[in-house]
Amino acid sequence: MSRYAAGPAYRGRFAPSPTGLLHAGSLVAALASWLDARAHGGQWLVRIEDHDQGRCVPGADQAILAQLQTLGLMPDEPPVWQSQRQALYARALQRLMESGWVYGCDCTRKSIADALAAQAPGKPRHGELVYPGTCRHRHLGPTQARAWRLLSTADLAGTQDLTLSWQDRRLGPQQQSLSEAVGDFVLRRADGLWAYQLCVVVDDADQGITDVVRGEDLADNTPRQIRLQQLLGLPALRYLHTPLVLGANGEKLSKQNGARPLDLDQPLATLQRAGAALGLNALPGTTIADWLAAAVRAWTAAGAALL
Ligand code: GLU
Repeated sequence: MSRYAAGPAYRGRFAPSPTGLLHAGSLVAALASWLDARAHGGQWLVRIEDHDQGRCVPGADQAILAQLQTLGLMPDEPPVWQSQRQALYARALQRLMESGWVYGCDCTRKSIADALAAQAPGKPRHGELVYPGTCRHRHLGPTQARAWRLLSTADLAGTQDLTLSWQDRRLGPQQQSLSEAVGDFVLRRADGLWAYQLCVVVDDADQGITDVVRGEDLADNTPRQIRLQQLLGLPALRYLHTPLVLGANGEKLSKQNGARPLDLDQPLATLQRAGAALGLNALPGTTIADWLAAAVRAWTAAGAALL
């Protein structure tokens, strides 16, 4: 039975980047999205996010699909590959350009850093640079622009702050000023690559996704994605960001900080460990199928409240 009273049938997805094999952290996100789809009587899809081919490891896509299969997490439709969907991203960018929300930019990382330093001398900067808006009103054409950016303001003149609010099923009410925290963000990079934000929004809509269940490290991308949905006239999605598995150094488990590949010689124990990170402990079942069935029952009863 669906927990949601109305609206389209539930369709969820797991969207791994094939930069390596799944590890304990990515399995938690995969399992949570699978469980949530099953608990809502919905469908679960897998999308290989290989839009940035330079970061992909050859063969990792097939290896990930094989890992999922061994763990009993089978997609309901054939997987799709972002590298084969360029035309969709191009069409979306074109629409945003025509509506005036996207502009060309010829800044380099250095010119951005210099402009920010001139704006606020002596202010140390951490993390991503918030673009200072240098090219906003320059009307660069396709031959001059290196990258294409989306205006992060509420108005086309670029003067009004845009703060987005959304509800996360685990984290509760969330809010972010897109203009201040993110700034005008890139949709197509100087090297011609599509930005993750654009690909994910276009694909989620094209695949009829209703629910995004993914790791909490991606939560602060959500306002950018909601903004793109709004401007492209796409349906709003529900979001659930799952707890991260931390490595020995207290940081998010990743290949960089020593995440080992999943132990597929003991797939049930591997699933049980991922389940424990989602609050699913001591479930009955001595086979993968039985354990997954018990996990779906537990998730159906409690859902995100387990987290
Ligand atoms: N491809 C992204 C990742 O592996 C996940 C994207 C998403 O779930 O929205 O981190």
